[in-house]
Amino acid sequence: MARIVMKFGGTSVADLDRIHNVARHVKREVDAGHQVAVVVSAMSGKTNELVGWVQGMPKACGASSPLYDAREYDAVVASGEQVTSGLLAIALQSIGVDARSWQGWQIPIRTDNAHGAARIVDIDGSEIAKRMERGQVAVVTGFQGLAPDNRIATLGRGGSDTSAVAVAAALKADRCDIYTDVDGVYTTDPRVEPRARRLAKISFEEMLEMASLGAKVLQVRSVELAMVHKVRTFVRSSFEDPDAPGMGDFENPPGTLICDEEEIVEQQVVTGIAYAKDEAQISLRRVADRPGVSAGLFGPLAEANINVDMIVQNISEDGSKTDITFTVPTGDVEKALAVLNKARESVGFDAVQSESGLVKVSVIGIGMRSHAGVAATAFKALADKGINIRAITTSEIKISILIDGPYAELAVRTLHSVYGLDKH
Ligand code: ADP
Ligand code: ASP
Ligand code: MG
Repeated sequence: MARIVMKFGGTSVADLDRIHNVARHVKREVDAGHQVAVVVSAMSGKTNELVGWVQGMPKACGASSPLYDAREYDAVVASGEQVTSGLLAIALQSIGVDARSWQGWQIPIRTDNAHGAARIVDIDGSEIAKRMERGQVAVVTGFQGLAPDNRIATLGRGGSDTSAVAVAAALKADRCDIYTDVDGVYTTDPRVEPRARRLAKISFEEMLEMASLGAKVLQVRSVELAMVHKVRTFVRSSFEDPDAPGMGDFENPPGTLICDEEEIVEQQVVTGIAYAKDEAQISLRRVADRPGVSAGLFGPLAEANINVDMIVQNISEDGSKTDITFTVPTGDVEKALAVLNKARESVGFDAVQSESGLVKVSVIGIGMRSHAGVAATAFKALADKGINIRAITTSEIKISILIDGPYAELAVRTLHSVYGLDKH
């Protein structure tokens, strides 16, 4: 007998049929004698619809901020998960499984006060654990918790993965299964490259890079939590027949295990390719080249909560001026330009230019630590396809390359193939 947390994403609970199918996955584990907690997302498309409704509302009378009230945003967008948790509890009861729904505030899942992008700080799992011991399944709303101001807070898009891993850690679960619409983590997004291969295992570090560089199969924070709390996390499909052979295999369920590097016997140099769309490049021309300039630019951007990513700096021939280029998410360009124009006088630069619709393609692999030439291979492969590189950043286990948007898929496929990741 073990304790399992099962998380089902939006496509897995997209309609009533799919919710009944999820109930069968849960029943399989209950019938095997396990204690089960389930974490659910909103039905697919629902959160987008709710966000759209909020964005379509007029802002508060006299408000100086162009943004709507984050607490009310949370009140609206958290509602999708409430619906699915109740429906799944009913579906489970209808097939003879004792089940009860739980919203974030009822457990409670406590978060910080960052409405719209809150972090989980504590989960009191005692009541649901007690009930699980009696055989009751807890169906928990993902994506939400209770903030210190006693209001619902949401965790940022894709946050149900994080809810699931956090619940698993709080309940000291033996396993956290993330059920989704693909049957594991692939060498790249299988929707972009059909020759992508499913990985049996991927290390926490690599999954962290993949997720933060655009692979939305897991939310970044969920991987961090799994790594810190040593939660045994599998990514697997909800679309397979719940009673197919092997589906209930406890030690080796079908899917991808996210694990410590040491557990991976055959380490490849490159493990995967990720991409992130909607990147924008901002260039500051002829910036004075003296100490404090970067602090004068990037300090105010950070204060405005703008996530600056790749930074490139070129010194002019005579060494007196420099060009600084960096990337931000497309959605933040307007805000960034406003911040920069404010800093213009104190920092001193001649012009600011921006370009949106770019893509960052990244090559990820722990093996890069000990292999030279990985970056050169990428540059040559992209050059052979006529793809221009706008900026590059590297770390110990990844190379990220900024390119023009229309080349995204070609670049992903080219890199996937040049590192021998294609399925044979
Ligand atoms: P859910 O609604 O279950 O949370 P998501 O849509 O958030 O599902 O994540 C699953 C999707 O992630 C897949 O449909 C796939 O297109 C995408 N994806 C991107 N990169 C990868 C990858 N490397 N491996 C698997 N899926 C990936
Ligand atoms: N429903 C939320 C979203 O669409 C959370 C999640 O699905 O993980 O972002
Ligand atoms: Mg998701």
